[in-house]
Amino acid sequence: MNIAHLLLGSSQEFCDHVALARGEAPHLGFRELWRKVSVMSTHLRVHFGLQPGDRVAFALSNCVESIEVMYAIWHAGLCAVPMNAKLHAREFAFILANSGARLCFVTPDLATTIAEAAREAPDLKEIVDVSTRPYGFMAVGDPSPMADRESEDAAWLFYTSGTTGRPKGATLTHRNLLVMTLNYYADLDRPVAGGSMVHAAPISHGSGLWNFPMLARGVAQVFPESGKYDVPETVALMNRWPDCSIFLAPTMVKRLVEHPDVGDLRPGALRLVTYGGAPMYVSDLKRALDTLGSVLCQLYGQGESPMTITHLSREMHALRDHPRWEARLASAGIADSCVEVRVVDEQGQRLPAGEVGEIIAKGDTVMSGYWNDPGATARSLRDGWLWTGDVGSLDEDGFLTLKDRSKDMIISGGSNIYPREIEDVLNLHPAVAECSVVGRPHPEWGEEVVAFVVTRPGAVLTSAELDRLCLDNIARFKRPKDYRFIDALPKNNYGKILKTELRALL
Ligand code: AMP
Repeated sequence: MNIAHLLLGSSQEFCDHVALARGEAPHLGFRELWRKVSVMSTHLRVHFGLQPGDRVAFALSNCVESIEVMYAIWHAGLCAVPMNAKLHAREFAFILANSGARLCFVTPDLATTIAEAAREAPDLKEIVDVSTRPYGFMAVGDPSPMADRESEDAAWLFYTSGTTGRPKGATLTHRNLLVMTLNYYADLDRPVAGGSMVHAAPISHGSGLWNFPMLARGVAQVFPESGKYDVPETVALMNRWPDCSIFLAPTMVKRLVEHPDVGDLRPGALRLVTYGGAPMYVSDLKRALDTLGSVLCQLYGQGESPMTITHLSREMHALRDHPRWEARLASAGIADSCVEVRVVDEQGQRLPAGEVGEIIAKGDTVMSGYWNDPGATARSLRDGWLWTGDVGSLDEDGFLTLKDRSKDMIISGGSNIYPREIEDVLNLHPAVAECSVVGRPHPEWGEEVVAFVVTRPGAVLTSAELDRLCLDNIARFKRPKDYRFIDALPKNNYGKILKTELRALL
């Protein structure tokens, strides 16, 4: 089954309802969108000569074209490679080369960066800027029939940062995406045609994945004109478009709740606010519930099982009289309908309620593997179970509490940052003898990056030099906010650096 089939259904059932909007202005209805992607699909196959299964990447700031591009890709039987618009040219280059993408769509702000990255991606033949005439021409011509796809075929390569510092492409199949969509209806909400969703978070991640349950039920997808998260603009759009759903990282919920404009929200404007991707502090959650009402729903998932593993529903948030209400707010909820969840020891044996171990998950949303990386796949998928790398415990009622994150990953502003990647860059400097990167709690961002650096004897090194090095090599949001120069790194008997001790120093 081809996931583009969802759009065919919407074009038949919801015809002229608004499918996409640019800010306050409607852009396309469902029938128009179907027609447009069917024509774009012809261009992808005929003009660009792409064959079923070929990868097509995109680096787009949030915009209506992102949905057009995605469905044109699937309609033509191709595989989408969404890339986070905030990445560095080197990171884009790695993803483009690793996925073997042959075509990449860009917004004008990213055109130069992608052109630079393309030099290291030999398979990439074309870059199409969605603001230019060549993109406009893709909507002119004859439609073609939707390509046949098997449920197990790759539909979306979701690039996560690996602990080795290199991104890994979680291969999501058409089945994974369909089951994730049905799970939304089973566990979170069944949206109503004529409602809306505002895309304030990156389309390459959670917000983009929620396009499916919205599009399939006739919900308008609204893209802020700024292409990013701006609270006053978001509030205005929530007031403009009816029955609004939105996906936000916990830090984005906090920014909304603390902004004076939240008082301007029309009563009943919000239908559902899903949040996840990082821990949400209970005090922040209570404040959000008091301010926004019973519209919050948490999800715990990862690229390898997109938007699905556990959830804390709207109804569970609302049960204030329940004796374990607070504990539940601090949890990530219960297993999703489509996923079995266990907490296990290192041998994979189930642990009793209350004991902390690794969280593993099994179900039809779990990826088929990492793209071109059998070693990493074998480590993550064992006997049909996904080893999440997250640590937590289940209580007697089946509520999962995440105790810690995959070892040393830092989550800042909802984005995952892997220390190894930054350490690799800092180690490029000849004056760096050793370094180690950890997260420090931050009231707004959740965590911020701090680097501990040991300089070579006699060498002189400044924070500014290291900052420059990071700016030249990795995305801005990943670079350390603080550099601490120390004499030696704490190590255990095996010579391994003790990050716990470094965190304690902070
Ligand atoms: P990603 O693959 O980028 O979606 O990141 C997934 C990781 O984010 C998970 O493995 C968790 O460590 C973390 N995460 C996701 N959802 C939650 C949540 N609700 N609470 C705490 N951490 C979360």
